[in-house]
Amino acid sequence: MKKTTNELSHIEEPAQKQIVYQTKELNLWYGDTHALKDIHLDIYENEITAIIGPSGCGKSTFIKTLNRMVELVPIVKTSGEILYRGRNIFDKTYPVEELRTKVGMVFQKPNPFPKSIYDNIAYGPRIHGIKDRKILDEIVEKSLRNAAIWDEVKDRLKENAYGLSGGQQQRLCIARALAIEPDVILMDEPTSALDPISTLKVEELVQELKEKFSIIIVTHNMQQAARISDKTAFFLNGEVIEYDQTDKIFSTPKDKRTENYITGRFG
Ligand code: ADP
Ligand code: MG
Repeated sequence: MKKTTNELSHIEEPAQKQIVYQTKELNLWYGDTHALKDIHLDIYENEITAIIGPSGCGKSTFIKTLNRMVELVPIVKTSGEILYRGRNIFDKTYPVEELRTKVGMVFQKPNPFPKSIYDNIAYGPRIHGIKDRKILDEIVEKSLRNAAIWDEVKDRLKENAYGLSGGQQQRLCIARALAIEPDVILMDEPTSALDPISTLKVEELVQELKEKFSIIIVTHNMQQAARISDKTAFFLNGEVIEYDQTDKIFSTPKDKRTENYITGRFG
């Protein structure tokens, strides 16, 4: 019997494992383009969930839907539900600003603000009303330490962030996301603009961060997904073709299309 999308997207897990995000019959259109089709995914706490698939299959759209950033595009329409910690973020009464303080985002190209290293990190906490210099100092240090870049920048906090290398800028952007003490971190191909050594540093960092946060990472680098993630969702043409433990996806995929993709036959 053909399995429904729902069955395919549900993974048996011990009951104590918490679900952070649950999408149900999630659909999204850009005008006439149906970019997400009936997405059912359970995303678990303190795990790294990788989203893989060929260019244009809806990976970025999916993660930008999780913090409702995608709605900044005026032609976007959505249907279905996204439960974040049990509450539907599409509800009219849902406080979107609060959601965005719980869900940090890191983009493909490092995008530091044209400000000092210190002010990049202090920016979010200041917006949230923290003015005490001592508290800000602590947040800046803690965030930079957690993003594994403190030792490289501690003597140049007043310098402009643009003076950092690309890899350092990306870890700075991760530190900036951490400074608001998020619950979830969304990452959209965070290493695709980085050299191999910086990529490795960011991968190590992401693995450390899952102790404290839940991480959803888009990558078109399958080795990266295999190396660092706990679960992997394979997207194709706006659909989730297969979602499972990462080792299963890469060793014994159930769907031929997943197998073709991970063995490099297309994409
Ligand atoms: P991926 O990140 O997997 O490469 P995207 O989520 O960026 O894919 O895109 C999915 C589909 O949605 C593509 O067909 C793309 O052309 C379309 N799309 C993405 N962003 C927009 C937009 N702002 N306006 C219209 N169509 C878009
Ligand atoms: Mg993308």
